Amino acid sequence: MNTTAATERPVRTGDALVSVRNVTMIYGGGTVALEDANLDIARGEFVSLIGPSGCGKTTLLRLLADLIEPSSGSISIGGKSPTEARRDRSYGYVFQAPTLMEWRTVMANVMLPLEVMGFAREERQKRAEAMLALVGLDKFADKYPWQLSGGMQQRVSIARALSFDPQLLYMDEPFGALDEITRENLNLELLRLWRETGKTVIFVTHSIPEAVFLSTRIVVMTPRPGKIETVIPVDLPQPRDFETRETPRFFEIATEVREALRKGHGYDVEV
Ligand code: ADP
Ligand code: MG
Repeated sequence: MNTTAATERPVRTGDALVSVRNVTMIYGGGTVALEDANLDIARGEFVSLIGPSGCGKTTLLRLLADLIEPSSGSISIGGKSPTEARRDRSYGYVFQAPTLMEWRTVMANVMLPLEVMGFAREERQKRAEAMLALVGLDKFADKYPWQLSGGMQQRVSIARALSFDPQLLYMDEPFGALDEITRENLNLELLRLWRETGKTVIFVTHSIPEAVFLSTRIVVMTPRPGKIETVIPVDLPQPRDFETRETPRFFEIATEVREALRKGHGYDVEV
């Protein structure tokens, strides 16, 4: 597979759900966290952002989430500005740490955004139950976060992010703190969830195998200044399973990603 061809593939703005145009982000101290980023993401894609620490992955997610504003360039989400998209609840956000409230049950944690948004009690209950079933935790609704493993806690935070049915799911290294076996299981579960819900996912990771396994495309980023180095399509067939990781094509794509990272001197990435 030729990475250059992927980068040069014509951009079809018409059917893009997320469109990033010439976006540069310079923080107060003068750090160029992101330089002239261009990216289009179609509805239903699973796009991973990969690169070493400090290459602007979180910055790009924060820009898409309207948590910060770009220094220059523009972002469109379903034809709206990030601010409008945030007000319309277009995205859910999953952080690296589960950030659950310890004094609330699993169920009450998933219902929290719905409470803030003013959903009626019955609707909150119905949605939270459905989301917990979706992540396979319906039997744990009455437990408290400290009674769950790290992987289960992260599933609760995914259920919470999906509770208000956003079309986009932003995930910032959600499984980075988990052991490899738990992570591989959650990867499989996330793919099932993605297929069943039809959400568009933008996923940040340090791990090459994780990116290859999950993604329809991988955005390879490089630091100082943060840049999109290349975009690599992942043509592994769906649905993917544990055996996908053992196919020759999986290793070919992983090598392609590794070489793109090396080109940008992104060494501190899991291989
Ligand atoms: P990544 O998520 O890829 O590790 P970040 O987007 O967090 O990278 O950071 C990109 C660069 O911007 C880094 O050099 C980081 O130190 C800097 N940076 C991130 N957030 C801020 C901030 N709030 N103020 C100043 N510099 C920041
Ligand atoms: Mg980050």
